[in-house]
Amino acid sequence: MKYNIVTIFPHLISGYGGESILKRGQNSGAIEICPLDLRVFTQDKHNKVDDTPYGGGAGMVMQVEPIFRALKSIDAIPFSKVDGLTKVKKVFNGSLARKKRTILMSPRGRQFDQSVAEQWSHLDELTIICGRYEGIDQRVVDHLIDEEISIGPYVLAGGELGAMVIIEAVSRLIPGVLGNAESLKDETHNVLVEDGGVESEYPHYTKPADFKGWKVPDVLLSGDHKKIEEWRMEQSKKK
Ligand code: SAH
Repeated sequence: MKYNIVTIFPHLISGYGGESILKRGQNSGAIEICPLDLRVFTQDKHNKVDDTPYGGGAGMVMQVEPIFRALKSIDAIPFSKVDGLTKVKKVFNGSLARKKRTILMSPRGRQFDQSVAEQWSHLDELTIICGRYEGIDQRVVDHLIDEEISIGPYVLAGGELGAMVIIEAVSRLIPGVLGNAESLKDETHNVLVEDGGVESEYPHYTKPADFKGWKVPDVLLSGDHKKIEEWRMEQSKKK
C-alpha cells in the first residue's frame, strides 16, 4: 500500500512514519509513506499555497492550483472526476486496475472508523490531502477528491494528525506491518459475528501478580485455559 500525503509540513509525516510499526512496515515493503510538499507545486517565488477568501471573511483559504498539480503529478485525481476522454485512455492503459482513493481531511467529512480502516487496507494507493488555515477552496472538494474524511467531532489546526491516525489504523491491518499477526485477533472494535455486535478487548495483566495489594484475578493464575477463555469472553462482553 502506498500513501501519498499532500501537506505543507512533510516532516510531520516522515517523523512519525519513521518510527515503530510504520517504520517496520516500510522496511518490509508492506507500506510506503510518501509525503508531498505542497510548496513544491507552487509557481510564484514565495511558494504561496493560500490566499484571502472571495466574498471576504476571516482567515486564509488554501488554493486549488497547487493541490491540483500535486495530485496530477502522482495521477491521484479520481477517475470519476476526470473528463471522459482521459477516463477512456486510462481504461485502455490498464491503470484502472490499481485500487486508489483520494481523500481530504476535513472536520465536516464522513467519520473514520475501524470498518473504514478495514476496507482501505485492501487499497493499492491512498492519497490524503491535509488542510491548514481556515479551510480549502471548495473546488478541491468538488473536482479533485473521492470524499472528505473526519477523524472526530472536534476541530484541529491541520490535517496531518488525522492523516497519521488513518495511516496507522489502516497499516496495522496490512500483513507484514505488525510483528505478531495474532495481535489482530480479539481486538477492541472487531465485530463478533455471532452477536452481530462489537467486541471489546478483555483486560490484560502482566507481572507482578500483586502490586501494592492490587491483585491480578485468580483465574488468570490458575493455568486452566478453558476457565481463562470463559473469563475473558465474559469480561469483554461486560465492557
Ligand atoms: N474552519 C474550518 C476548520 C479548518 S481546520 C471549519 O470550521 O470547518 C484546518 C484543517 O485541519 C482542515 O482543513 C482539515 O484538513 C484539518 N482538520 C481539522 N479538524 C479535523 C478533523 N476533525 N478531522 C480531519 N481533519 C481535520
